[in-house]
Amino acid sequence: MNPAGSLLTATGLHKAYGATRALDGAEFSIHPGEVVAVMGPSGSGKSTLLHCLAGIVTPDSGSIGYAGRELTAMSDAERSALRRTDFGFVFQFGQLVPELTCVENVALPLRLNGVKRRPAEAAAREWMDRLQVAELGGKRPGEVSGGQGQRVAVARALVTGPRVLFADEPTGALDSLNGELVMQLLTEAARSANAAVVLVTHETRVAAYSDREIVVRDGRSRDMERVV
Ligand code: ADP
Repeated sequence: MNPAGSLLTATGLHKAYGATRALDGAEFSIHPGEVVAVMGPSGSGKSTLLHCLAGIVTPDSGSIGYAGRELTAMSDAERSALRRTDFGFVFQFGQLVPELTCVENVALPLRLNGVKRRPAEAAAREWMDRLQVAELGGKRPGEVSGGQGQRVAVARALVTGPRVLFADEPTGALDSLNGELVMQLLTEAARSANAAVVLVTHETRVAAYSDREIVVRDGRSRDMERVV
């Protein structure tokens, strides 16, 4: 793996939970604007790798470089600040706040960063438009479909202009048609914003939207020729 020009790089990551070696020498790198799929069977260490890269889990050993800074050397407060400003997240289930409307959900990260309601909601509507869910602004998450909710979640993840979007099985709860639409719009939106995407998936069809695939097995990762 060549880390030259990389935005986010990990080398020699180890993480154990008791006797389980979740990561056992994993490597990773991603360039600005690149979409990398992290593939592998269930339990192979994909989510642990994503959580380490995002500064949510601290590895037992190894190094994680982000934009010239060593993530493992940062304080918890520095890492959470970085997550708020530079990283966006999409999970399998959108995890939208049920009491808020969709536009309020998308605007929420900006509001938490101190942006006033009007400009925050204006930016939210712009991102919802790109994700083709503009018409859902006034609805609550319980009133929209799973696929629509995921597109709202993608808009929320991108509204702060993150440099890295972490997506953990973003289509895992969707049927194939909705999954394809989410992936198409997610990758288009991320590319237009020059955000790198770390995409964890076990589906080849979803990974096909990436520029490059990394396979994790038994906590170790390697680059892979795309299987057609
Ligand atoms: P994947 O995302 O590929 O399914 P994970 O990274 O979730 O794999 O898990 C890798 C291994 O580490 C599994 O054996 C899992 O049970 C274990 N593991 C992950 N997180 C924890 C945790 N918080 N506590 C204990 N074991 C964990």
